Amino acid sequence: MIDNYGRTIDYMRISVTELCNLRCRYCMPEEGIVKRDHAEMMTAEETIDAVKAAVSLGIRKIRVTGGEPLVKRGIVELCHNIASIDGVEELCITTNGTLLPGCAKELRKAGVDRVNISLDTLREDRYREITRVGELGDALAGIEAAFDAGFEKIKINTVLMGGFNDDEIEDFVKLTVDRPLEVRFIELMPIGGGIGFEKARFISCVRVLESVPGLEPLDGGNGTMIDGVAVMYALPGAKGRVGLIRPISCDFCEGCNKIRLTADGMLKPCLHSGAEISVKGKNREEMTEIIRQAILSKPQMRETLDADNPSHAGRNMNSIGG
Ligand code: SAM
Ligand code: SF4
Repeated sequence: MIDNYGRTIDYMRISVTELCNLRCRYCMPEEGIVKRDHAEMMTAEETIDAVKAAVSLGIRKIRVTGGEPLVKRGIVELCHNIASIDGVEELCITTNGTLLPGCAKELRKAGVDRVNISLDTLREDRYREITRVGELGDALAGIEAAFDAGFEKIKINTVLMGGFNDDEIEDFVKLTVDRPLEVRFIELMPIGGGIGFEKARFISCVRVLESVPGLEPLDGGNGTMIDGVAVMYALPGAKGRVGLIRPISCDFCEGCNKIRLTADGMLKPCLHSGAEISVKGKNREEMTEIIRQAILSKPQMRETLDADNPSHAGRNMNSIGG
């Protein structure tokens, strides 16, 4: 479906749970969140209905996210049911990877096309520091499990933070030399736990190009290659690629093609706006109309976003899904 500003909206991100087994400082509060009553959350049937409604309006790509989607009971079956819907051309999952060793093969079999694994550091002590409770080895095992399960074009999402992991940029880029991995550096956003992070943590992804001058822009045919919201680079001869995602230093609202659905059934036309419309408890016909309204209410542009101007999303990232 085309929105009011001529953008084709064909991508829906679904947060299937607000819960998580980690507590990343820029995302969730240390104490976690209060588990909400079952009745407030979308049932699997409602989620499937919402996907069918979205597909009828031209949504073609679905990303399952969270919280941590792999802590959700029945996640493999839910993925299977989404992948089986006529019109869903691509099903992806975004995960912290720590639980992939137990389910990567099943997810692949269920019809998940791609996995993005979030990993902000390659150092054990820092991994523990940023996730508060996680073990680096679990995330690394998750990446291997994704390879073993036959996933292609595995993406690593790395939130770049000044004074925390900017000295590891080269190490992350090196991961792309021998393996077909895509490392995507993402600018830290003042949203959720990221609100109140000290200014020095918010750095531009330009830092990646300064740290690794050998990175060359990939040619997308008529200029720089853009993959979704990432501008693509690679080291000469490398098997993998490097993507820069710049939600702060470079606005990409003009090309925005997505809507988001939260685990409690709220459609978010824009990540950084507090506007939400509920599909919880609605039948498919009603959902279709609500999704249409959500698409038509997408703002042309987000408001100013930087260390001094936090997001108006009104939710933590674990309940939006990134
Ligand atoms: N638990 C899964 C994971 O970590 O990949 C999926 C949900 S998580 C909310 C999705 C993505 O949002 C992750 O890549 C995470 O790093 C990113 N994220 C969360 N809070 C963020 C923030 N304040 N700024 C930038 N990215 C953030
Ligand atoms: Fe959990 Fe992902 Fe948020 Fe980290 S970023 S706390 S792994 S939902």
